[in-house]
Formats: sequence, C-alpha cells, structure tokens
Amino acid sequence: MKKLVLLMGLVFLGSEALAFNIVYPKKNDVMINAKSTFFIGSSDAPLTINGQNVPLHPTGAFAYVVPLNNGSNTFVLQSGEQREIFVITKPVIRQTIFKPAAFVPYKETKSFVVTTEGAPLRSTPVDAGINRMAHLQRDIKLQVDGEKDGFFRVVLGKDNYGWISKTNVKLDNYNNIEPALLSGYEYLDSDNYFTFVFHLNKRVPFEMIEGDPFVMKFYNIKDQPENTYIMNFPVKDALSGRKLIGYSGEYQGNDFILKIRKPVITNSWRPLHNIRISIDAGHGGDEIGGVGCLGDKEKDINLSIARYLETELKKRGARVIMTRNGDNYVSLKDRVEIANYGDSVVFLSIHGNALPDGADPNKNRGTSIYYYYSQAKPLADIIMDTITSEIGVPNDKVRQGSLAVVRNTNALSLLIEVSYLINPEDNANLINPEFQKQYAKAIADSLEKYFGK
Ligand SMILES: [Zn+2]
Repeated sequence: MKKLVLLMGLVFLGSEALAFNIVYPKKNDVMINAKSTFFIGSSDAPLTINGQNVPLHPTGAFAYVVPLNNGSNTFVLQSGEQREIFVITKPVIRQTIFKPAAFVPYKETKSFVVTTEGAPLRSTPVDAGINRMAHLQRDIKLQVDGEKDGFFRVVLGKDNYGWISKTNVKLDNYNNIEPALLSGYEYLDSDNYFTFVFHLNKRVPFEMIEGDPFVMKFYNIKDQPENTYIMNFPVKDALSGRKLIGYSGEYQGNDFILKIRKPVITNSWRPLHNIRISIDAGHGGDEIGGVGCLGDKEKDINLSIARYLETELKKRGARVIMTRNGDNYVSLKDRVEIANYGDSVVFLSIHGNALPDGADPNKNRGTSIYYYYSQAKPLADIIMDTITSEIGVPNDKVRQGSLAVVRNTNALSLLIEVSYLINPEDNANLINPEFQKQYAKAIADSLEKYFGK
C-alpha cells in the first residue's frame, strides 16, 4: 500500500491532478479489428482528440468515436498540460472465400450417445444461441444419419431432424438403433406442480414446446406414428385461465420427469405476497463486468439496484432470494442453482449494458430486456412499459436471447440491461442512487401488475 502511495506521489509530482481519465480502450497499444472504436472516459477540462473537441456531458463523461484504418492509428489526447498518445492497430485480414460445407449422408443410421450434460439439440447446424430445441442429458441415445460442419444430423421422426455438435456425443458401442419403449406415464399431484413421470426403457431425445397446449414430445419411440410420442397439456384449462409460469423436464434414470408449475394464487390487494423472486446482481468479485465513463464498475451498480429492488419487493410481501448480497464472485451455474433450489417463480438478472467496437455509444440508450422462453415475454413487456412510462427510460427493446442464467432457471426468467454504462447520459442515471431507487420501484410495480391480473 505504501509503495502505491509513493508511486502515485511520483506521478503527480510537479504536475496538477490529471484532467482526464480513459476507461476504454483499457490500455495503449491494442489491436482492434473493427471499422471504428471509441474512447470512453471523463474529463474536468476541455479535451481534444487529434485536435478535435470532444463533447463532454455535465458529469464530465464522454464517448468519442474514432474511425480505424488498416495498420497503426495514432491518437493524441490533450487537455491543458496533460497529453496521452494511444496507438491502435487494425489488423489487415486477407479476405477468405467462405465455402459452406455440404451435408454428408451416411449409408446406414448410426447410434450415438450424449456425453455432455445439457448438450444443446439444435434446429440448424450452427451454434446460433436461440436455435436450441432441447438440452439433452448424458446417456440419451441418438440416431444419426449424416453430418455437416461440426454437427451430426439427428433423426427425430419422418422429415424431422435436429443437430448436435460432434463434441457432445460418442458412438454408442452397442450401435442399437432400435426405437425405445414408452410403457406409460403416471401423474403425481402436489401443491405446486403438475408432475408427470414417463417410463421409458432408454433415454431418447425430447422437446418441450410452449403454447396452449404445452407439447411434450419424445422421439424414437416404438409403436407411435412417425416414432414420435406426443402429450398435449391444456394450459388454459389446467391453469384456470392463467399463464404458464415455469416448468422443467429431466431424466432420472430412464424415467422422464415433467413438472409444470401450478398457478400462483395471489390476492388482488397484495399480489406479491409470498411469491418467491430471485434477484441476480450480475458479476461480482474479480469479475467486475463493464466499466462506466466515470470509472464506475458494473458489478457495484448491479448490486445497488438489486438491493433497492429487494427492499421494494419485501415491502410488498414477496419472498426474495439474492444470488449474491456482497462483492463476491458467483458462477453462472451457482446463480441458477440458488434460484432453482429456492423454487423461484421469477428470476431477474440485473446488468449494465456495453457495446462492441464499431458501434456508437452516443446513439445507444435505455433498457433492453432478454427472455429465452416465450412464457416470460409478457412479463418483459410489462416491465418495459412501466419503466418507459414511469421514469422515461428509452425503450431499447424486449429481445429473445440465449443467456445461461435465463435459459437454465425454471422460472419466469429475464435479464435486464438497465442502461448503457458507456453512454454519458445513461451513465449519469446508472450511478445516481435516486434513479436506481426509481428503477427498482418500477420493476416492483410491474411485477405487481403482472401478478395482480
Ligand atoms: Zn453485465
């Protein structure tokens, strides 16, 4: 510590305190492969970059876009006596002609077995995030009839295929492509769930499709049309007209357990009473997340908003679970486990947004909300409406995205990008406790609206 103070003393020796501070690019002499990049930071005196005036927000924050040419680009940042030079290299990449690989059919269908827990079965042979049809557990047997790129084509039924990455499977030693036997299912009643237990003689690929009805499909099943077994669950009738709010499906041995959450009974004067809500403050510990113009860390802003939200929700009678309540690192897997273990009905992950090189931080503002399962979209829409109308935050869209914490939680799960850390206007909001409080209140109001209906 003493050393650091001494070092800082040396830096400041004979000069005034630094007028400007750059938070991005993170260091000088970086390689950036984009048409443009930006300088993000703050200054308390007029600042120029290569002689051009940099507009400063009243907080001192700025985001300044600069074009990049091939090779080395030099930028001189100057404010009064302080002068810093940044060299950014844009690599020259020779254009390669992209030739899509062709599908290679096999003469005979082969049997493979899943080796990775949660391996995505995809609708197309690309790693595209939301083209996931299901997440397959280990030991599920797959019939494969060909390959393309790094993917095997999985036979699901007549003219119905899925794709799985070659890295997630291995050849089944027995190479037994016999369809499985589904001998029946049991229905188990409990307070919170409709539970179905399907008895199979081996693990086969499956799909759960949201809608009314909710469709449960098992593929490669003996004595079923197109080897596909389908169970339709009438959502509206079973849930007394209410919407789907969480489900899960997994194998235990060769039994498949499907759980669909029963409607949450609320009273109209206190709609959040006893509702289990997980709040997930993004990042933490060594993982700081993004950095704002003024140097604020995303992890701290997320936690602050999460705590205001916790207070708001508890006031309204909700049972709140925090995936972290301090500045500590929590893995994505642990966040999911905490939420699922607590049987959360709602899961909200709080984040601050950033942008890649090539984008303009001055032209991006406001909240974006990500859902993965369509059951959560109506809640996302209500939150967006409330935030834009109650506190006037720009609507940066409700979007579908494949984010691990949202995808793996058995709840109405959303990830909320509150605002852009690197937009000077948004940044001023993000670091303002009054804004954080209002934002948390708007989310709590939205949840009340949603459950009060
Ligand atoms: Zn984040």
